[in-house]
Amino acid sequence: MSMNTQGRPTAPAHTGSVSASGSALLPSEPLLFEIGDHDHSGVDLPDVEINEDRLAGLRRKTPLDLPGLTEPEAMRHYVRLSRQNYSIDSGMYPLGSCTMKHNPRLNEKMARLPGFADIHPLQPVSTVQGALGLIEQLGHWLMELTNTAAVAMSPKAGAHGELCGMMAIKAAHEAKGQGHRKVVLVPESAHGTNPATAAFLGYSVKSIDANENGTVDVAAVKAALSDDVAAIMLTNPNTCGLFESQIIEIAQAVHDAGAYFYCDGANFNAIMGVVRPGDLGIDAMHINLHKTFSTPHGGGGPGSGPVVLSEALAPFAPVPFVRRNGETLEMIEHVEGGSFGRLTAFHGQMGMYVRALTYMLSHGKDGLAQAARDAVLNANYIKARLQDLFTAPFNGQPVMHEVLFDDAFLKGTGISTLDFAKAMIDEGFHPMTMYFPLVVHGAMLIEPTESESLHTLDFFIETMRELATDAKAGNAERFTAAPVRAPLRRLDETRAARQPRLKWQGDAQARQAAQ
Ligand SMILES: *Cc1c(COP(=O)(O)O)cnc(C)c1O
Repeated sequence: MSMNTQGRPTAPAHTGSVSASGSALLPSEPLLFEIGDHDHSGVDLPDVEINEDRLAGLRRKTPLDLPGLTEPEAMRHYVRLSRQNYSIDSGMYPLGSCTMKHNPRLNEKMARLPGFADIHPLQPVSTVQGALGLIEQLGHWLMELTNTAAVAMSPKAGAHGELCGMMAIKAAHEAKGQGHRKVVLVPESAHGTNPATAAFLGYSVKSIDANENGTVDVAAVKAALSDDVAAIMLTNPNTCGLFESQIIEIAQAVHDAGAYFYCDGANFNAIMGVVRPGDLGIDAMHINLHKTFSTPHGGGGPGSGPVVLSEALAPFAPVPFVRRNGETLEMIEHVEGGSFGRLTAFHGQMGMYVRALTYMLSHGKDGLAQAARDAVLNANYIKARLQDLFTAPFNGQPVMHEVLFDDAFLKGTGISTLDFAKAMIDEGFHPMTMYFPLVVHGAMLIEPTESESLHTLDFFIETMRELATDAKAGNAERFTAAPVRAPLRRLDETRAARQPRLKWQGDAQARQAAQ
């Protein structure tokens, strides 16, 4: 295999099907600093004549060192970068737990209406009555879908919603003189944000084992409950894609012990319009608008994570919130009583609210339930068509909106889950979620969502089957060498996340990188 200077092969190692994304074989894109120089500019400005220096000696003495580029050079750089960015608009995104569904263009159109897009959070409330009305309506439907008593709209992501819900729980315990409760129970399969949230608020986290079916062990919850426990944080459907069928019994036990039930609602897409979490006994639950209600996400934002609260927690909700006073809507910024205070500046993510409400209204009650059912059907279709070649660790019940495989089927092949995922890139697919949840070895978590057609699912399934067959046939090199069709090969993703290099440091940096 011949390589170019970036370590990218100039000829693919095998000649399988052509990438579905169309993004294969794009050259690696240099930084603007590497393309640009000081002699070019995208604009022509007249020379200025400075007669009097008003900078009191603070004038810069060294050049700014910004790269100069012509307009076409700058434009092509960003267009080329954008083509390297895999997106839900260019192909299927089977990332489990992320609910990467289609973002309808109608949502975008509504979010750009000037009355929503061009307002400012410090505007007088009399001038933004329509926007407040939309926040009120969206909150109303979130409470309706979950059968809960209150909603806090301001959290800006799922993790932020967890923080909000747990702060309400903490405030509720303190109001009852139960501030000594310092333990939060978190099942083994939980998303990392759950224990992180509890720890951030000063709680100690007690892990709860799963049973052999992949659901939470009720006996283990009961054994762990005591006067020290403030709450349980439980995800339903859980991150193995399974419905926690004993959730009512768990909620009862938690309440009997004087604790609260925080439900991680990131997987609400599987049950929206079908099951109301309030009926199951939950006290607080965040809803990822950017997952369930189709607002765009990825690349770090924007998100929106409103939290619904039970009657018991409603008095502790944060400010601000919208309140109707006859015909007028008010933004309540201060309240007497239990509210834990302000979670964030301003009122939340207006653009996400508009998109989410548009999605809800365009689907209607029956349409939302249909979307949930289709998401579940699609996941079970993938499971049914892959389970003879892949290994599912929990095979007892049908899955909900996502299907979990482990790496047992790769045993003895010398191929890891990571290698398999990299080979998917060569076939034009974004990989599934890998190594999460932690409860199974080499996890592969696949979530198709409802927005993929049968045709797309079949294409994905055929690709996965071909890869699995080739892996078992002993063609390890295709996997361990992958990706060969991406602009860059294997990157040290952990180091990139832990030690991000955000500043161009000229040639010194290039030399360091070369070492
Ligand atoms: C996505 C997710 C979260 C966190 O939501 P963010 O919006 O990414 O902060 C929490 N729990 C589960 C199960 C998730 O899938």
